[in-house]
Amino acid sequence: MADAPSARVISPPGGVASAEWLAGGSGGADRLARLLPAALRGMAAGTAERGGPVPAGGPAAVAAALVQSAAGLPRHGVGAEQALEELSALLAAGSADPADPACAAHLHCPPLAVSVAADAVASALNPSMDSWDQAPVASEIEREFTTGIARLCYPDAARPDAVITSGGTESNLLGLLLARESAVTRPVCGANSHHSVARAAWLLGLPAPVVVPCVDDRMVPSALAEALAPLGAQAVVVATAGTTNTGRIDPLPEIAEICRRTGARLHVDAAYGGLALCSETLRSRVAGLELADSVALDLHKFGWQPVAAGVFAAREETDLQALTVRAEYLNADDDTEAGLPDLLGRSLRTSRRPDAFRMAVTLRALGTSGIGALVERCCANASGVHTMVDDHPALRSWGAPELSTVVFRPMTADELPGTAGDDLVAQVRRTLLEDGTAVIGRGALPTGPDGEAQLWLKLTLLHPHAQPADYRALLDAVATVAADLRTSVTRESPVAS
Ligand SMILES: *Cc1c(COP(=O)(O)O)cnc(C)c1O
Repeated sequence: MADAPSARVISPPGGVASAEWLAGGSGGADRLARLLPAALRGMAAGTAERGGPVPAGGPAAVAAALVQSAAGLPRHGVGAEQALEELSALLAAGSADPADPACAAHLHCPPLAVSVAADAVASALNPSMDSWDQAPVASEIEREFTTGIARLCYPDAARPDAVITSGGTESNLLGLLLARESAVTRPVCGANSHHSVARAAWLLGLPAPVVVPCVDDRMVPSALAEALAPLGAQAVVVATAGTTNTGRIDPLPEIAEICRRTGARLHVDAAYGGLALCSETLRSRVAGLELADSVALDLHKFGWQPVAAGVFAAREETDLQALTVRAEYLNADDDTEAGLPDLLGRSLRTSRRPDAFRMAVTLRALGTSGIGALVERCCANASGVHTMVDDHPALRSWGAPELSTVVFRPMTADELPGTAGDDLVAQVRRTLLEDGTAVIGRGALPTGPDGEAQLWLKLTLLHPHAQPADYRALLDAVATVAADLRTSVTRESPVAS
């Protein structure tokens, strides 16, 4: 591979080496078109070399490949084509690729090619979203896109608005920040909530959240009412529409009603489930979202965008005024008075990528109905895989999926005493990861005999073209590895049976 690129050296325009070419300006598209083939050749070669969802051999093998490649900070460069081809091959060969159905551990989606192509243009032109003079039309595109998302979340609100974030973590931070700015002092969330909620409270100097118990990974409304009784309007409740562990959706209408009665604010973390709004058949599952004061959505989950593609929507645009900030060089008062849009207050960040551009291109290409159809396929796939788990002689299902997460456990784990069952579950996951067979997730859920946490395996299915049959071999592999490990555990400690 190292020799090949020299045969394809691109003749430098005006004596400038291709590694120094600029992506934008006159001729930028042509220069990119001449470099991209080297990157894509490397990507194709690396993907073929991997031949599965993840490189085999675990961290040691991956690190060894890197040492041979001389990545890092070399004193002398090798030129654009060779660097692109070699390192793209390295990246593709060593990636966990969610475009392989067996890469299904996390809310880690396979990005749509249309979005990635759009992102190349966005990167080349490099609009920075902190001032109008760096992003004249990009800021308008972002405005239209965020207005559309705000309407999707709040069809009947008078003045909803939304801003782009780096994901659910930043959106949850904004949810608690705007609550704090409206004099809320106490976060309240379910035991099923994402870790970023407690972290946001910590970051904002708020007390640690009051944690409301869950049953079946859903917040229990009566327990919420009890928790809110002494707090009332001092509280901001964070509910979840699509939990990270199981994809469960909290009973939003009941939670919203309790918040309304007590005067508490409501933020819904719909990072996972929010885009179900695009599906006519699934949107009823997230009914009640429109009753929240704010909502977190991630289009790098359902939405099929490369990271980062978060959106934070607020029912009242005035709530977002809490983010207003002045910087003379970016949004001077006289510039704003003269009609230059003030963008700085639309994020906690300053320099910011035009992530809305590829989201807007994707939505233009597919429409909300097209995205909704992909969400439906993932959920249908999860139902099918869940049925296969239920019918499998060696696997036990945690419960029917509400979105696209299938949670299950090898039955052999239940035969082991104490924590040995959990150890086996963890080892099954690592074995499949290290031998390059599959990337499956794990989650602790309170299913033990006395309500103690037990470790489960999970498949988070975000591959929009996968079918249940694509997972048969994977489920069998889980069962086989579990049986093999069980045999070795029993051999090491006869007590175990
Ligand atoms: C993914 C997720 C988050 C975190 O979002 P990032 O985009 O990774 O910052 C928060 N909450 C839920 C429910 C999620 O699924």
